[in-house]
Amino acid sequence: MDLTKKELKEAHDTMEMWEEDVLTRYPEPEQKAKEAFRNYEDPARDTVREFYRQNHIHQTFDFVRSKEDQYLTLSKKEMPLWEAVEFLNTLVDDSDPDTDLDQTQHLLQTSEAIRADGHPGWFILTGFLHDLGKVLCLFGEPQWAVVGDTFPVGCQHSDKIVYSKYFSENPDSTHQVYSEKMGIYSENCGLDNVHMSWGHDEYIYHIMKDYLPEEGLYMLRYHSFYSQHREKAYDHLMSRHDHEMFKWVDKFNKYDLYSKAAVPPNVKELRPFYEDLAAKFLPDTLKF
Ligand code: FE
Ligand code: FE
Repeated sequence: MDLTKKELKEAHDTMEMWEEDVLTRYPEPEQKAKEAFRNYEDPARDTVREFYRQNHIHQTFDFVRSKEDQYLTLSKKEMPLWEAVEFLNTLVDDSDPDTDLDQTQHLLQTSEAIRADGHPGWFILTGFLHDLGKVLCLFGEPQWAVVGDTFPVGCQHSDKIVYSKYFSENPDSTHQVYSEKMGIYSENCGLDNVHMSWGHDEYIYHIMKDYLPEEGLYMLRYHSFYSQHREKAYDHLMSRHDHEMFKWVDKFNKYDLYSKAAVPPNVKELRPFYEDLAAKFLPDTLKF
């Protein structure tokens, strides 16, 4: 499926917009005072709202199950890591090359910040891989099914989820079982038994699940699950082990959100380091 230039740009812009919105909601501690003055009435908010509305309406339990069936056999495409990185990078923004980073640079900023703090190789690599699942966009998925906060489906939507009011338009909200607090799940059943709204997190987790340590896999799988890692909205589904592992998700989160460096990373210079690192953990080609 080939997207037009306009579609590629729209996809890129939506991703940027959602990431900026997350930053607005969860600013870096020292930024808080400044962020308080942000103007929430500006027209860009309409686009943000509409994005969440679409996401909240369409991410039903049945939709998620159909996407799992469609993608989790990993039979879409086989690519070496760097080909996947370049494939994702076809989502670029040509409107403002000075302030916007391309996708590869976001991956590298995240992983380089992790590396600068002296973390182990698997952690650095996890940072580099964390958004590769966004290639879903290039397979023709709408942006609300690629990015956005993720949340459990098959049970009640928490009011701690951003713009939760839009769930009233989601058919699961009036479903006999899915609208119940526990829904199809049992108390503290563990997140591995829970279906999450469909997006780049779940997808990249499945692509990598045989290759990275569990801590890294939790980072990949739950990095957009803000209603849990920031608001503790789903403790009733989490096992003790999930809570242990979420310490790593929290550790990762600050690198994802707050690693914008003044100088963009030099992709060409860094590529050999990441290819060597990937060779230690990953097969020669990755199945998407
Ligand atoms: Fe992400
Ligand atoms: Fe990211």
